[in-house]
Amino acid sequence: MKTIKIKEERCKGCQLCINFCPNGLLVLSKKMNKKGFHPTEILHKEKCTGCGICFLVCPDVAIEIYEKQPIEKPEK
Ligand code: SF4
Ligand code: SF4
Repeated sequence: MKTIKIKEERCKGCQLCINFCPNGLLVLSKKMNKKGFHPTEILHKEKCTGCGICFLVCPDVAIEIYEKQPIEKPEK
C-alpha cells in the first residue's frame, strides 16, 4: 500500500502532476506557500494507487512516495 506526501514549500504550482495523475486526484490548493505559489494538494488520498507518476514528473522533487504498512491485528 503506497501513499504520497507533497512538500508544499518545494512546489511551484506548475500543474504537471495534476495533468498526469491518471485518477485526477491532484488539484492546486487555495492556500499559498512561502514562495507565493499555490501548491498541489491531493483529494481523496484513499483513492491514490501509488502509481508514482506524479512523483516521476515533478521537476522540483516536491512529491514523495511512501510505503504504508497495514496495521496487523494481534493474534488471539
Ligand atoms: S501516485 Fe499516482 S494515483 Fe497517486 S496522486 Fe500520484 S499520479 Fe495520482
Ligand atoms: S509537478 Fe511538482 S512542482 Fe509542479 S505542481 Fe506538481 S508538485 Fe508542484
